[in-house]
Amino acid sequence: MDYQKILDEIYKEVKPYIGKGKVADYIPELAKVNPKQFGMSVVTLDGELFSVGDAQKRFSIQSISKVFTFTMALKMYSKELYKRVGVEPSGTPFNSLVQLEYEHGKPRNPFINAGAIVVTDSLISYYKDEFITLENILGFIREISKKGDININPQVAKSEMEHGYRNRALANLIKSFGNLDNDPITCVETYFKHCAVEMSCEELAHSMLFLANRGTDPLLKKEFCSPTQAKRINAVMLTCGHYDASGEFAFHVGLPGKSGVGGGIVAVVPGKMGICVWSPALNRYGNSYAGTIALELFTQKTGLSIF
Ligand code: GLU
Repeated sequence: MDYQKILDEIYKEVKPYIGKGKVADYIPELAKVNPKQFGMSVVTLDGELFSVGDAQKRFSIQSISKVFTFTMALKMYSKELYKRVGVEPSGTPFNSLVQLEYEHGKPRNPFINAGAIVVTDSLISYYKDEFITLENILGFIREISKKGDININPQVAKSEMEHGYRNRALANLIKSFGNLDNDPITCVETYFKHCAVEMSCEELAHSMLFLANRGTDPLLKKEFCSPTQAKRINAVMLTCGHYDASGEFAFHVGLPGKSGVGGGIVAVVPGKMGICVWSPALNRYGNSYAGTIALELFTQKTGLSIF
């Protein structure tokens, strides 16, 4: 299949939608991003890379980082992790407090904020220090994306620390139920920092290869999780990766994926490739407006969907 031709066609067809929607403004630093940008990359298991638009420009990965922290925690704790965080879609917004109260501080899944904060707490307990935890998260991301200079944008992290009242509330509520081992503010600050990592579409597409290949990165020839864990991570991405619109994403795109409020979406075609699309303006569910359309076009044109 001529993936470059397909990406070029998608770029043309998606142009009228680029900039439609609204950039995330609850993190003031993200509100400054120019909404009229679009990039998309596909990397096949044998390392062929195809890109269009702003695919080399780094952006705030935000919730996409939850895929990386979930992978790390699953490797460390295996099934024990599910005692603290579930794997069911929440059917509520990503920063909802209500469900957490009803369900006694056990978040529904690792991709809503509450779940990701618990996962971050589990990493801090493992490394016994929040700075070493961050270094290890960064090290993991650099390794799987094959780029040693990936970093955190400190302004974005600071901006979220100054305005993240709901996330602080989530962390405190979880702590009150005894489901955080570390100080809630330490957990939430570490979480904000890993959300503030910046990567490009090309780097993020590369970082999905291990999930497309049963846990082993085919280019590095290194296992990052077991085949069963890769299956589970893909399953949670499919059912919980797009906030309240996860069902719609499965319906229209039909691939495991994870979006972030920076406008990025990663997707996995098992046995074939990693994909990333980025366009900062978001639809009403908080997923990239043009990015979601681009992925739907991709699966329509290629027939590559898990269904
Ligand atoms: N750091 C963001 C938050 O917690 C991540 C949100 C997202 O990308 O879904 O609000």
